[in-house]
Amino acid sequence: MLLSNDVKYIIEELNKHGFRADVVGGPVRDFLLGKQPHDYDITTSARPEQVEEVFSGKRIIETGIKHGTVTLVLNGENYEITTYRIDGEYLDSRHPESVEFTTELAEDLSRRDFTMNALCYNPKQGITDLHGGEADIKSRIIRAVGDPEKRFTEDALRIIRGLRFAAVLGFDIEEKTAEAMEKCAHLMEKVSAERIFTEWKKLISGDFAYDVIDKYRHIIRVFLPEVADEPLPEKARFDISEPIVRMIALFKGAGGERYRGAMMRLKTDSGTRDAGFLILTSMKNYDTSSPLAIKILMSELGAEIASLRLKVEYLLGMREHEEIFEVEKIIERREPYRVSDLDINGSDLISLGIKGPRVGQEMRALLRLVMEGRLKNQRAALISSVKSRIPSDNAKIK
Ligand code: ATP
Ligand code: MG
Repeated sequence: MLLSNDVKYIIEELNKHGFRADVVGGPVRDFLLGKQPHDYDITTSARPEQVEEVFSGKRIIETGIKHGTVTLVLNGENYEITTYRIDGEYLDSRHPESVEFTTELAEDLSRRDFTMNALCYNPKQGITDLHGGEADIKSRIIRAVGDPEKRFTEDALRIIRGLRFAAVLGFDIEEKTAEAMEKCAHLMEKVSAERIFTEWKKLISGDFAYDVIDKYRHIIRVFLPEVADEPLPEKARFDISEPIVRMIALFKGAGGERYRGAMMRLKTDSGTRDAGFLILTSMKNYDTSSPLAIKILMSELGAEIASLRLKVEYLLGMREHEEIFEVEKIIERREPYRVSDLDINGSDLISLGIKGPRVGQEMRALLRLVMEGRLKNQRAALISSVKSRIPSDNAKIK
């Protein structure tokens, strides 16, 4: 495994002081999968205060220290260095009551969720694999470390993490692990909404997301009952992987109100919540069957929402792939769809003698004529169109 100089330095410094240190979890798994790891967590026999001593003089962030994690900043990168840990008793299916530090690497590896995540590596000893993680990666299997039912009862977030890895990697979930997931699924109700949603977003972006959703509907039902029975898009349309588009499409049957309710329950950001609500409710009131209809949708809901809606329609089999970029094309051709795109503004209308709310009404009427192609977006044409509608006594004032 090729480690960066910074990671090698961290391991060597800890070794010099008599401690063992290994890269652990995600990066070792990703390396064996031939993927570029995105961060390097380190597990060590040194206690947090000893880690701080070894790297005294370097920038250290202490936020995770109660759980044994010291974050070391090297050349602008953060490295989490965590002391071998035994998690205390879990009473709430999410958090250990306490964590205990240990000097046994084996104990630290046994607290990890899946065999493929319970691997560690250092340049001197190579890969340490006490739970058969390497073989499981080769056979493309997700398997809980230890007794699956016990592990999911301890921390039910592991259930959706398991589904997420299956959806991203296309691995099968080993039978006993899958059975325990189903059995413990109700415990996910105790897991914080934010953590569930973070995993769900990764799950639904995965290349194998729909296979997983289809196979594990009973589990999905615990946190998203609204979509658990929905039909899934046809395979040819899986090329759209944006999580928000995939999620909104899943809610087509449930509709905008239920989508919004689900997003509130999962405590998502307001952008995710509002986009889906607007798109799903707009499906009843606005069609998108012509360029004019799309422009009207853009002017009512904004270009971003309109663009997402076309992708949702594609996923639902309502339009073809070459038709999903209509919004971007309208913008590229600089076709007006906002009042502010007109070659005239409110003050122009006021100087033509138009007052109060009629200014806005007139601007929207002009925009509509321009969008319909009945009027050119040119100042002179716009002004004469306005004048033609001004009652003659007003026109005289001008
Ligand atoms: P990613 O590529 O998404 O970062 P990851 O496996 O590195 O995947 P992290 O959330 O970064 O996931 O966790 C780092 C490691 O910590 C995991 O590989 C696993 O060993 C352990 N871990 C994380 N969450 C849990 C959990 N809920 N229960 C047990 N072990 C966990
Ligand atoms: Mg990680």
